[in-house]
Amino acid sequence: MLPRNTLFPHVIELNHQARRRIGCCVYLVFDDAEWALLDIGYEDSVDEIIELVRQLDFPFSKCQAIVASHADVDHIQGLAKAKQILKAPVLAHPKAADLLEKGDRLASFAEIAAQNIDLPMPPVEIDRRINDGDVIQIGSLELQVWHTPGHTDGQLSFRLGELLFSGDNLFRDGCVGVIDAHHGSSIVDFIKSLERIKQSDVKWLLPSHGPAFRKEDAHIDRTIARLETYMHMADFGTCAVDWPLMDEWEQELVEGRPPS
Ligand SMILES: [Zn+2]
Repeated sequence: MLPRNTLFPHVIELNHQARRRIGCCVYLVFDDAEWALLDIGYEDSVDEIIELVRQLDFPFSKCQAIVASHADVDHIQGLAKAKQILKAPVLAHPKAADLLEKGDRLASFAEIAAQNIDLPMPPVEIDRRINDGDVIQIGSLELQVWHTPGHTDGQLSFRLGELLFSGDNLFRDGCVGVIDAHHGSSIVDFIKSLERIKQSDVKWLLPSHGPAFRKEDAHIDRTIARLETYMHMADFGTCAVDWPLMDEWEQELVEGRPPS
């Protein structure tokens, strides 16, 4: 038996519990004997995660859910394996669920041919499609589901009192989850999701990568301001909404202006 090293009441994060980096954050939310996992990580870390859960004395039969925050390979490659071992229902947003059930390798970043990234994506059947406003019951705890698109169109966050499991929306250093057209990213939606998080009265953000941190308006504002510039930059290709240089150029072409 391992002593339970909670991050907050009712919350264990398994990298924090192990005191070493296993992969993405894997949150175990529990109330008495009932518990659920938020994300699971890569398939090759499932055995270690499950062994930790066993040593923490959480009965497998009391696992209420394995929840996918979104369909990226580094968060959910191990879902099928974990489901088989724990025999627990798997929950995801409908848009993530479609990718997970197909084992989609492109939108999940399992396959990036140009970078020789070629990982398996074992398909997994989704038992419950969850969306904004739904509740995941864990003992007497109610985890509120938020749909927070931006990084991907199926990105979920989960509120538990003053805590928000905030997925890939925002990290402690102000970075956000990758913005990529193949992935269903939307900078406009991303900003709306960040505004929603900012305007809420949650006190702590528990992200999918890196340490948990206090929610601070100035921190979120800096990230939003950065993303607002992305909307008008060629750097972000089809994820940008416009490119003001093209309008300037058009005007200069009409005027027949020489280089200056
Ligand atoms: Zn991620």
